[in-house]
Amino acid sequence: MNIILLGPPGAGKGTLSNKILENKNAVQISTGDLFRYNLSNKTPLGLKAKEYMDKGELVPDQVTIDLLWDKFDSLETKENDEKIILFDGFPRTISQGQALDDGMKERNQKIDMVIYFDVSDEILIQRLTGRRTCPECGATYHLVNNPPKKEGICDKCGSELIQRVDDSIETVKNRIEVYNNQTSVLIDYYSKKGILKSIDGTKKPDEVYKEFENKLGEIN
Ligand code: ADP
Ligand code: ADP
Ligand code: ZN
Repeated sequence: MNIILLGPPGAGKGTLSNKILENKNAVQISTGDLFRYNLSNKTPLGLKAKEYMDKGELVPDQVTIDLLWDKFDSLETKENDEKIILFDGFPRTISQGQALDDGMKERNQKIDMVIYFDVSDEILIQRLTGRRTCPECGATYHLVNNPPKKEGICDKCGSELIQRVDDSIETVKNRIEVYNNQTSVLIDYYSKKGILKSIDGTKKPDEVYKEFENKLGEIN
């Protein structure tokens, strides 16, 4: 089953993904994580992506689409597999959405559901500027909403937490603008296809997860 998590930066896509991965037979494809992984290994792709990421701009479509299919095709899932594939942070433009549709058709697959996170800009700014992440295991925390047990240290693996460079206030504002200008049109795109399901992203993470489970029940 192929599920897209669509929503502005800071909406809680990564947090929901992690809960789904813990509780269900699922894998996640996060283009942001893939770019950061490439950057930490200093690959040409990672260095190119950095120019855009640091400013809060989108990495060019073709680069991103190629990366997406590389990852998708490397997953060991068969057709009709029960496994949930979560698209976290992809697509982010109409042309990425169209490329995804075309590529799915070629593979005799389809997008089953798009979960749209509704969250206001004010909340996004509070969430993103307070976000702390674990560079080792990918766990996500928040200084106020979800602090680690020991300050600055990952509960799961004991590594030191970092603040992403693009979580500074200026870059955050630009990312939200980029979302509003280039990504939010996908809400309409998937709504017209009849596969969009909205959830209230302002609720607590456990409640967001419950809403997700309800939506999943509706299509099963
Ligand atoms: P995204 O992947 O959509 O950018 P994240 O899942 O990384 O968003 O969440 C952004 C920040 O907000 C993180 O610091 C996270 O701990 C916090 N957060 C996520 N979901 C919620 C929620 N439902 N309520 C309060 N804070 C949340
Ligand atoms: P968040 O969910 O907090 O916005 P991500 O980790 O998804 O952050 O993305 C971080 C950055 O990686 C984006 O600001 C952008 O520069 C780049 N990126 C991630 N996914 C895409 C995509 N689908 N298209 C273009 N750029 C992307
Ligand atoms: Zn960790």
